[in-house]
Amino acid sequence: MKITFGTALAVLALLMFNSCINNMTDNPLLTQSPNPHQAPQFDKIGSEHYKPAFEQAIAIGKAQIDSIVNNPAEPDFDNTILKLELAGKELGNVSTIFFNINSANTNDTIQQIALEVSPMLSEYSNDIILNQKLFQRVKQVYENRMQSGLNAEQLRLTEETYRGFARNGANLEGEARDQFREINKELSRLSLQFGQNVLAATNKYFLHVTDSAQLAGLPPFVVDAAASEAKERTLEGWVFTLQAPSYGPFMQYSDNRTLREKMWRAYNGKSLNDEYDNRENIKSIVTLRRQKAALLGYPTHAAYVLEENMAKDAATVNTFLGDLLAKTLPYAKKEVQEIQEYSAGKGNNDPLMPWDFNYWSEKYKNEKYAFNDELLKPYFRLENVEKAIFSLADTLFGLQFTPNPSIPVYHPDVKVYEVTEKGGRFLSLLYVDYFPRASKRGGAWMTSYREQHIVDGVEKRPFVSLVLNFTKPTQTSPSLLTFYEVTTLLHEFGHALHGMLAEGSYSTLTGTNVVRDFVELPSQIMENWATEKEFLKSFATHYQTGEAIPDELIDKIVNARNYLGGYQNVRQLSFGINDMAWHNLQDPSIVQDVVKFETEAIKPAQVLPTVDSVAISPSFSHIFAGGYSAGYYSYKWAEVLEADAFSLFKEKGIFNREVAQSFKENILSKGNLQDAAELYRNFRGRDPRPDALLEKFGMK
Ligand SMILES: [Zn+2]
Repeated sequence: MKITFGTALAVLALLMFNSCINNMTDNPLLTQSPNPHQAPQFDKIGSEHYKPAFEQAIAIGKAQIDSIVNNPAEPDFDNTILKLELAGKELGNVSTIFFNINSANTNDTIQQIALEVSPMLSEYSNDIILNQKLFQRVKQVYENRMQSGLNAEQLRLTEETYRGFARNGANLEGEARDQFREINKELSRLSLQFGQNVLAATNKYFLHVTDSAQLAGLPPFVVDAAASEAKERTLEGWVFTLQAPSYGPFMQYSDNRTLREKMWRAYNGKSLNDEYDNRENIKSIVTLRRQKAALLGYPTHAAYVLEENMAKDAATVNTFLGDLLAKTLPYAKKEVQEIQEYSAGKGNNDPLMPWDFNYWSEKYKNEKYAFNDELLKPYFRLENVEKAIFSLADTLFGLQFTPNPSIPVYHPDVKVYEVTEKGGRFLSLLYVDYFPRASKRGGAWMTSYREQHIVDGVEKRPFVSLVLNFTKPTQTSPSLLTFYEVTTLLHEFGHALHGMLAEGSYSTLTGTNVVRDFVELPSQIMENWATEKEFLKSFATHYQTGEAIPDELIDKIVNARNYLGGYQNVRQLSFGINDMAWHNLQDPSIVQDVVKFETEAIKPAQVLPTVDSVAISPSFSHIFAGGYSAGYYSYKWAEVLEADAFSLFKEKGIFNREVAQSFKENILSKGNLQDAAELYRNFRGRDPRPDALLEKFGMK
C-alpha cells in the first residue's frame, strides 16, 4: 500500500470533487495522455497546473476511500484491499511527476507549492492510517485470507496492507492509542531537533588561517575554495569548515598535524560539547522508540524495524556484523600497520592517531596505486559508456533501447528510450537526464514516473528515469566521465533494471518497492562490471585516437578498489555496531553517559587509538534524524548480497545468459512478491555467504 490515500467527511470530499470537476478536462496532470504509451505530458504541464491537480486528486482519493468504507457489502479482497491499492491513483500520478520535477527541474514556484502541499499530503495519509472503519475492513479480509481462495499475489498484498496498518498502531485502543500518537509526535519533534542541532554545530565551527605557511600540503583547489569561503565571510586569508568538501581534503592533505587534530576534534565533537548538544535527545529518542515498540508488542526497537527486513531479527544482524568484524579486523590492523611503517619511512615518529590516518594513507595510495582521473577520462566518453551499458543489458537480458524523440521531456537535455524485449514486447520508457543545471539537485538517482502494474486486466508498463550530474560537453570536448561516474551510471542503471523488468499485478509489490536491506542488490551488483577487464575492453577506447584502454590502467583501477578494504570494512561495521547497540537496548534507562556507552559498544571495532571526549552518536543523523535506525547494517548486508550474487557470474562468466536469466526471473522481475530471503535463495540456491565479500576485496 502506498500511504498516499486518505479519507475525510464524505460530504466535504464530494463537494470539493464536484466543484473541481469542471477544470479536470484541461489539466494535463489529470487528463489521459495522448502520447505513445500514455507518457506524461511534459510539453503541456506548467507550474500553474500542480496545485489544482493536487487539490482535485486529493478529493478524488478521499471519495474513493469513503466508497470503500461505506460499502454495505461484506469486506473482501476486491472491494477492500484491491480498491485501497488503486485508491488515490490520480494523486499518485500528480505527486510522482511533481516531486520528480521538484528534484530535477525546479523553480521558485514549484518549491513554494512543495511547501504548501506537504501538509496536505501528510494529512491525507494520516487520515487513512487512522481510519478505524477502513482498518476494520482490512483486518477482516486479512483474518479470512486463508479461506478466501486468494492467489499468492493477492495473499501477499493483503498481508502487506494489513501489516502497514498494524505497524502504525491501528490495532491499538484507548489509552495505548493516544500514547502511541503522542510518542510519534514527540519522536518527529526530537528527530527534527537532532538534525537541526547537527546542522547548526557543523555550520558554527570554522578554522581561520591567516598565515600561508599553515597551508602546506594543501592542493590549489582546496586553498582556492578556502580563500573564497573566507571572502564570503569577509575575513582575511582562508577558512576551512566541517562540511565534507572542505573537511575531507583538509584531513587528507594538510601537512600541519596540530591543525589536523584541531579539525578532527571539532568534527568528532559535533553536538557534544557545544550549545547544540544532542546527548539528552539521544536518550529520549531511544527511550521513546523502545516504548513505541513495546506498545506494538516488540521486545526492542530493533525487533520492530528488522521484522520487515531480509535479516528479520537482531540476533541475525549482530551475528552478521560480528562475523564480518572478526574476519576483516586482522586485515584492517595490517593495513594500519603498513601505513604506520610507511609514515615512519617518511620521518613520522609518532604513533598514528585518527587525525593522521587519512593524511598518510592518501600519500601511500598516491605512491602505490595512483591513477589519475585525467588519464582515464578520455576512455570514458559518455556516449560510449551509455552504449556499452545498453549493450551489456542486451547481452545479459536481451534488451533493446530505441530513442523516441516524439515523447515529450521536461528539459531539452533529457532523452527518452523505448526499451523492448527480443521479440518486440514493450517493457518500459527510460528517461535519461545526464547534466547538472541550477534547477537540479546534486547527486544521482533512479526514479519512476509510473510503476509497473495491471489495472482492469490492462498492463501498465513502467516509466523509469535516471537523473545524474555528469560533466557537460563543451564546444571543444565531449562529456568525458571519471571512473567514479562510470560506476555511478552502472549503479543507477541497476535500479532502473529492477523497475523496468518488473512483472506483477500491484505496483506496491513490484520493482524497487522492496525491503531496505535488499533494494541495493540490483544496483550494487552492476557496479562489478566496471572493474571487469572483459567489459572495459569491450568499449573503453580513447575518444580521439581510438586506442583501447591499456591493461596497466585497468590493473590500477582494480587495485585501487581493494585499497584499505579491511580498514573501510571495519569502519562501516563500527557504525552498524553502534546503531544496533542503541536500538537493541531492552532498557535504555541504563545509559548514563552517551560517550561512554558508544566507546564501549564500538571498542571491538577500533583499530586506531581511542580519543577521549569525542563520539559519533551525537551527530549520527542517519539513525537519529533519518530513517536508518537499526538499519545501518544494510549497507554491508547489500554488499555481501551483491558480492555473493556476482560470484556466480565470476564462476560461470560475466556475460553468462543463464545466470542473467535466473537473476532476472528470481530477483529483478519479482519486486516484493515474495520474501527477499526466499527470492535470493531461488537465485543462488542457498543463503548469501559473507565470505564472498572478503574474496571480492582479496581478503581470502
Ligand atoms: Zn542505490
